Amino acid sequence: MMQFFSSETIYSKNQSIAHSILDSAQVVLDVKREDQIHAFVSGNKFRKLKYNLTEAKALGYDTILTFGGAYSNHIAATAAAGKIVGLKTIGIIRGEELGKDFDKTISENHTLRFAHEQDMDLHFVTRETYRNKTTLVFLDELRAKFGSFYLVPEGGTNDLAIKGCEEILTAQDLEYDVVCCAVGTGGTISGIINSSLPHQKIIGFPALKGDFLNKEIAKYTTQKNWELILDYHFGGYGKINQELIEFINVFKEQQQIALDPVYTAKMLFGIFDRIQKGIFPKNTRILAVHTGGLQGIAGMNKKLMKKKLPLITI
Ligand SMILES: *Cc1c(COP(=O)(O)O)cnc(C)c1O
Repeated sequence: MMQFFSSETIYSKNQSIAHSILDSAQVVLDVKREDQIHAFVSGNKFRKLKYNLTEAKALGYDTILTFGGAYSNHIAATAAAGKIVGLKTIGIIRGEELGKDFDKTISENHTLRFAHEQDMDLHFVTRETYRNKTTLVFLDELRAKFGSFYLVPEGGTNDLAIKGCEEILTAQDLEYDVVCCAVGTGGTISGIINSSLPHQKIIGFPALKGDFLNKEIAKYTTQKNWELILDYHFGGYGKINQELIEFINVFKEQQQIALDPVYTAKMLFGIFDRIQKGIFPKNTRILAVHTGGLQGIAGMNKKLMKKKLPLITI
């Protein structure tokens, strides 16, 4: 049953990017295609779930409980992975209003429909309740309601998730000078930092506002060869504009690589902007980790349609 997360490490391939901006700056940029690891348990979510679901099984649990928003890549991936390895999944979703008419929610929201199809048991809570998701009182309430479960935190970040993310870089990847990664909770970049060499610089591009992530990441790693660039959140989590949509569509056409609007597009936009500004010295070899998340495009396009903005091409 657990062969899905086999003990042998899966590696994704690096795809080289050809672009006049790279030629002018004389830098090399490759994209690590973690998005190709699995159709539904893609990118960093595969890495983060691997040791957690293995542990849940080893400890004899039959149910996973986790948290997420209505468009969460983590919810979609946990639902799919749970089904594959034979664990029941419960998703506590932010937004009580979504539970009022479940059928309507499922028909309109691609992420939640997918999770439901993977047999995830979806429960909707108010934003206020959701904020308590790490308190013992709330977790006890959930245990009283659902029975025993293995808890995976929001976004999937814990020590076992970071252990999984330490498997993203290969021995060959140690030749890159710079490794870039999109940042949400900071779990993925922490694993990458832990498996990097001191001569490498790991650069994180947070997808949300605020500088609290520096502290978060410092909890998970003792290495100092990393930095967060806080300038490319585009107004906050899930916020995008026309410039970013155009960047995604042009990148897809030129490179045949789809980017997700919440994380990887902001990272690659930031990388190109900084290359253009001459921030990387000549001959710098940059690896950008594509952490997946493409399931989120459908939900974003629905929002863009309502705002009469151009859509992301699929
Ligand atoms: C969840 C996610 C991230 C953020 O990962 P963290 O470990 O929370 O920092 C980055 N990219 C994509 C595509 C994601 O789905």
